Amino acid sequence: MTRILFDFDGVWTDQASEVVAIRRVFVEEAARLLGEPYVLADARFEQFYAVVLEEPELHGWFPRGMHAAFADEDALLATASVADWLDRGGSEPGAADWRRAIKAAGFDTVMDFANAQFGKGMKAARSGGHGLVEQAAEVLDALRTRGVDVVVASNSPPEKLEALFGAIGVTSGPGFRLVGGAKKWWVEDPSLMHLFGGRHVRTDRPHYRAILEEVRPDVVIGDVTSLDLALPAAMRVAGDLAPSLRLILRRTQGSPEWATSQPGLESPSRAVDGTVDSISDILRDGFLPD
Ligand SMILES: [Mg+2]
Repeated sequence: MTRILFDFDGVWTDQASEVVAIRRVFVEEAARLLGEPYVLADARFEQFYAVVLEEPELHGWFPRGMHAAFADEDALLATASVADWLDRGGSEPGAADWRRAIKAAGFDTVMDFANAQFGKGMKAARSGGHGLVEQAAEVLDALRTRGVDVVVASNSPPEKLEALFGAIGVTSGPGFRLVGGAKKWWVEDPSLMHLFGGRHVRTDRPHYRAILEEVRPDVVIGDVTSLDLALPAAMRVAGDLAPSLRLILRRTQGSPEWATSQPGLESPSRAVDGTVDSISDILRDGFLPD
């Protein structure tokens, strides 16, 4: 039986509306604290983000102070990347004003402020009726028919996954399992890295490792190399997962080239074996192992 380990956000959801909502909530609140018009704050944010994206390998998401994902591999990380850049003393015009206003509002760091806004942004996106991608039910049905074992492991809380799949009538049971709170972002020893597509990705992620060891997937599908694909790739190289394991990146318009087309596909040291533009692409002939 084929077993697929899916990521959730960005694979079963389309994140475009979430990206817009999260940024809007973040900038709206910053504008309010700064006492300036939204359009001005948004233009500042755009400048800050442009600076961050000039050196994406240095910026990104640093939960617990550890580098978990690069700024350019997930548009959902825009606010976290900018917040981290501000906290590290980013010096574009306006940056000091942002730090001052956010700290005056009682936040120790801009990242604390960003974290406080993130959930509100997600909620705002969902209240617009956005849920799973429209092909979700059809794809799950086809996978069930083929006897594919589906596990969805996500950093998102289990209640969110259950609610969104429940809304299309899918609940956990034989052949379908949800694992929330996966903590794929949790990096233990930051000195343990693997080089994929020219990026040194931290691969000591014990929480995600435990899930991979338990599920032992034949295929892993995710949209963010550092969070979803790097560790299973490292485990494949080390012989901790089967050499036949396939790593699939769900590609979006924003996926960086280093993640989608890593050189040397014949090399065992790669974190992508194929890409899909939509979850329904996995139903293409010959895509899934027999
Ligand atoms: Mg994702």
